[in-house]
Amino acid sequence: MNWTTIEWTDFTWNPVVGCKHGCPYCYAKRFAERGLGEYGKYKKGKRFQPRFFPGRLDEPKQRKRPAKIFVSSMGDLFGDWVPDEWIEAVLDIVRGCPQHTFQFLTKNPDRYYNWFTFDMKNIPDNIWIGAGADNATDAHTRSGTLGFMGAKVKFLSLEPLLENVVEYVEWESLDWVIVGAQTGPGAKKPKKEWVENIISYCRAYDIPVFLKDNLEWPEKIKRGANEQCTAQTAGKKYISLKNILGLRMAYVSPAAMKYQ
Ligand code: SF4
Repeated sequence: MNWTTIEWTDFTWNPVVGCKHGCPYCYAKRFAERGLGEYGKYKKGKRFQPRFFPGRLDEPKQRKRPAKIFVSSMGDLFGDWVPDEWIEAVLDIVRGCPQHTFQFLTKNPDRYYNWFTFDMKNIPDNIWIGAGADNATDAHTRSGTLGFMGAKVKFLSLEPLLENVVEYVEWESLDWVIVGAQTGPGAKKPKKEWVENIISYCRAYDIPVFLKDNLEWPEKIKRGANEQCTAQTAGKKYISLKNILGLRMAYVSPAAMKYQ
């Protein structure tokens, strides 16, 4: 388990790594295939294959203070190719560490559905269930699937945001939204209005939205939105000077968005 610079979590924990989705912008694959860290010991071209590290399972147990833990940041734990036993081993640890919040993120939320709902297995209280999408079609189907889940927090990660998704997302399904930009060689920045639209819809549906640093939005706007995310997803009421004055500061106002 490692401290991380990912702004919306405290640690990454990677008992299962690797992914077969093949997203062309994948940071994790680039990292692995360059042979960085422990990936150097595997054959080039095979470094990002799915792997299970049972020796890492106990890491969350060693930390007693509560933390947010992003599970399998270097892969997709709920990919179709992942054996049930790997997932069950991870969930055993989650159940045994109620002090932590485990953040799961997949591009295959149908497997959540099959795992937690169809199979009638309970979703532990300390799990946040997330789906990732970069385009309108996936944003629609994946947010829709989250709507069937009974998790405490259900979130959609729109990173990298590659097109306007706002009319396709099933907003009622969501408790939290993350928006981010593509990074790395040839990265395309999302259009400003795509992000503004998401913020507006989140405001309308009372959903906190987390704007990632890589969007390069003005610090003041980003900080306001993100502080609210931290408070609201921790179950606290967001208090700001404007709340006290009876105005809603929780979301970015259209006026505030006119920063250019
Ligand atoms: S789903 Fe995530 S880990 Fe898998 S290829 Fe796409 S970006 Fe990489």
